[in-house]
Amino acid sequence: MKKSRRRDLLLFGAIALFVLLLGCPLRFFTGVCCPGCGMTRAVCALLRLDLPLALHYHPLVVLLPAAALAYLLRGRIPAKIMRGLVILALLALTAVYVIRMTGGSDVVYARPEKGAILRLVRWIVPAK
Ligand SMILES: [Zn+2]
Repeated sequence: MKKSRRRDLLLFGAIALFVLLLGCPLRFFTGVCCPGCGMTRAVCALLRLDLPLALHYHPLVVLLPAAALAYLLRGRIPAKIMRGLVILALLALTAVYVIRMTGGSDVVYARPEKGAILRLVRWIVPAK
C-alpha cells in the first residue's frame, strides 16, 4: 500500500471514529452545526424507509444516491460535467444550510456556548 493511501485511510479512520464518538467535529468544537449536520440521522431514517423524517433531518439526503453514483462513475463522466455537478451540489448545500440556519430547521443550530472551545475558555477564565 502506498504511503499516501495509508495516510488517507488513517485520516479517514480518525475522522470517522471522532464522528462516531462525538458527532460533528465543527459542532463539537464551536457549537455551530455544519452544512452536513443531520445527514447521518437522515440516512438512518432513510434506511428505515422513513422518507419524511429523513427529509426533516437533511433535505439533501435524496441526492446521496446520485452523488454516490457520480463518485463511482467519476472516471467515465467528463471533467467539465463533473465540475458542474460538484458546483451545483455545493450551491444546493449552501442554500439549504442558510435556510436551515436562519430558522428553517430545528435540527441545526448555532450555540457557541455549547462548543468545547468556549467551554474551555470559560473554564480557564471564569466569568466574574
Ligand atoms: Zn456537522
